[in-house]
Amino acid sequence: MTSDPRSAVVVGAGPNGLTAAALLARAGWRVEVFERDALPGGAARSTAALGPGTVVDLGAAGHAFGAASPVFRELELERHGLEWRHSRYPLAHPLPGRPTAVLHRGLEDTAAELGRDARAWRRIHSPLTADMPAQLENLLGPMLRLPRHPLRLARFAPTALAPAGLIARRCFAGAPARALFGGSAAHAIAPLGHPFTGAFGALFGALGQTSGWPVARGGSQAIVDALVAVLHEHGGRIRTGVEVVDLRELPAADATVLNLTPAQVLRLRGPAIDGLRAGTARRLGRWRYGVGVYKIDYLLAEPIPWSDPRSAEATTVHVIGGPGELERAEALAAAGRMPDRPFVMVGQQQVADPGRAGGTGYHVVWTYAHVPHGYEEPREGEVIDLVERQLERFAPGFRDTVVFRNATPPAALEAWDPNLIGGDVAGGASTGLQALLRPGPTLDPYRLGPGLYLASASTPPGAGVHGMPGAWAARAALADAP
Ligand SMILES: Cc1cc2nc3c(=O)[nH]c(=O)nc-3n(C[C@H](O)[C@H](O)[C@H](O)COP(=O)(O)OP(=O)(O)OC[C@H]3O[C@@H](n4cnc5c(N)ncnc54)[C@H](O)[C@@H]3O)c2cc1C
Repeated sequence: MTSDPRSAVVVGAGPNGLTAAALLARAGWRVEVFERDALPGGAARSTAALGPGTVVDLGAAGHAFGAASPVFRELELERHGLEWRHSRYPLAHPLPGRPTAVLHRGLEDTAAELGRDARAWRRIHSPLTADMPAQLENLLGPMLRLPRHPLRLARFAPTALAPAGLIARRCFAGAPARALFGGSAAHAIAPLGHPFTGAFGALFGALGQTSGWPVARGGSQAIVDALVAVLHEHGGRIRTGVEVVDLRELPAADATVLNLTPAQVLRLRGPAIDGLRAGTARRLGRWRYGVGVYKIDYLLAEPIPWSDPRSAEATTVHVIGGPGELERAEALAAAGRMPDRPFVMVGQQQVADPGRAGGTGYHVVWTYAHVPHGYEEPREGEVIDLVERQLERFAPGFRDTVVFRNATPPAALEAWDPNLIGGDVAGGASTGLQALLRPGPTLDPYRLGPGLYLASASTPPGAGVHGMPGAWAARAALADAP
């Protein structure tokens, strides 16, 4: 006689929900995923939002963490069609009145262009680049645990703990190194004066200089499709168009995995939520959400007319200006004030993945600006205007190339994917202890209660399409199964 397999229900089919589901299904569990949207993928979906044949990443586009993700490798997503595509440079940062700074896919190549800052550049990044897989084992999981490679982690600690702005000013003399480091740190979407932002700067930079910041061929959707393929291969199912509001609506299961952020967990109903320990409910209730993003996708008649042609050879371009402007913009957005010169992340995925415009002959360009949490424009078109002014500084004539633009303000992002609260794409602010302890101070971030697990960007190691929160939550469920 065989016993029934263990069972799991997963609420939300973002990359973390799907990763947890795929791992549990692969372990022989009966798995059902419930997703409110019409299609799975969460903030890693792609659609033809700019017309037939176009491929637009609705959320994530650049995959520094995806390409390095241990669980994506374990799930053999490449076997299911995922292909990483690289541009010549992972990152370009145009600077006012001087050549664009570029990050190369090699520490020495990057350092070679940084002149007197070359030594400091190596010193900051080599503790990571020297053994990236070991450092990722240290960093892509809960912070309150014994590290797998303590000596290596200790070497990274001085940079990791310090504010990125301080490191940029103290360690580097020139604008190129300061801008490259600060811009990488700005992926934390936190003011660069905050502790731990140094960790983001060094880690993003080190990933770029090892495995790169690639895009997925055919769009980020290829990552989702590969995760779904693994899930289906092992008998798992996805039910779309189902918004879960009460956990009692779900089939009984050994494990319930929530691919949600803390505020959404607390809005759910059912005995498992009512029965949350007071400390857990309090911790979730104290969770803070951070700076929002305002996304604009463009269809252009020709590639962006960058003043410095090297900017055209990078999939990611940081458009802000000098390092001082970057610090100011990030501090203002976090303080709830719209910067007149916002930080604009530009994605030229088509440079690495030429099929993004279909047969239209146009150019698909993805951008977002950091704006205050939940920002509502006082007049329609304000942020579009500010973003395009920024682009015009480094690519004069940009506006003349625009065939069509599609704007998605913070409220529209949240309406599309409720995990993006106030346009916060990181599942909660990465400021203060929240940068490390997600969701709040706990030794056990993935367990909410008996049989109830949290797997989202609000758990370690945080935001990004890498599936690691899903992997840790699945491991917790597997470990709890008698
Ligand atoms: C504009 C933008 C740009 C980004 N850029 C990058 C990037 O370049 N690189 C990168 O690595 N990351 C990027 N990110 C962040 C990345 O997309 C997220 O960190 C990642 O998607 C988080 O995954 P998740 O599975 O935790 O949540 P999500 O991807 O948000 O998925 C959550 C899912 O749960 C569903 N859901 C919510 N509530 C319910 C409910 N009650 N019932 C059923 N289903 C529900 C949602 O519909 C959604 O499908 C970006 C995000 C955005 C929005």
